[in-house]
Amino acid sequence: MRPIRLGWMYPDIMDLYGDRGNIQVFEKRCEWRGIPLEVVKCSINDVVDFSTIDILFMGGGADREQGVMYQDLISRKEDIKKAMDDGMVCLLICGGYQLFGKYYEDADGKRLEGLGIFEYYTVADGRTRSIGNIAVECECDGETIQVVGFENHGGQTYEVSKPWGKVLFGHGNEKNGYEGYYDGKTLGTYMHGPLLPKNPKIADHFIKMALARQGITEELQEINDSLSDQAREYMLQRLLKK
Ligand code: GLN
Repeated sequence: MRPIRLGWMYPDIMDLYGDRGNIQVFEKRCEWRGIPLEVVKCSINDVVDFSTIDILFMGGGADREQGVMYQDLISRKEDIKKAMDDGMVCLLICGGYQLFGKYYEDADGKRLEGLGIFEYYTVADGRTRSIGNIAVECECDGETIQVVGFENHGGQTYEVSKPWGKVLFGHGNEKNGYEGYYDGKTLGTYMHGPLLPKNPKIADHFIKMALARQGITEELQEINDSLSDQAREYMLQRLLKK
């Protein structure tokens, strides 16, 4: 088995509300199972061969931070697109999610071009802000699960053709009852918090997809997730008054 290669986009710029915890979860869950994993950091002007990356991760960032990195991201469009077409999977949080769409327009009307790989676009009107805990129901590995997180975004994301899940509590894409984007290979979501420690099934889903690229399709070794299960259940009960 060769190592899973996890590309971490702009770790020094795009990292809000514990987003880097998602990287730690990938590292730990692979280490506990004896699966080799390499983290490849990619920031502005770094040379990275995306054709060698299995999972691409990008966290969120405030408007200012997105303004700092978006041109570098766009300069990599062809490489990223080609790697995605060849099977690279992506986990994108908030600001990262937004910039894989057509554009992000801030409250002053300034537009940051996105990669345009997906057709959705994001506009911040300066009045609406989605802040707080969020709970979402989604499908994961053929199972309906409830996930919890934290959102904080001014941008509202429109025309998401394939929403990831249904909002049970909180706001999501544009307060229309749906959250995120998922097409079976790329997951874009507003869920910070960070996402994976609170919802480790999502991490395992990505690990499985990365291993499947190497033809490895056996079930992953079980990990005792009872603490994060309890924490998530507690939040679900609190938010949904279950
Ligand atoms: N700047 C973007 C917004 O406010 C993204 C914020 C984030 O990544 N949390 O919509």
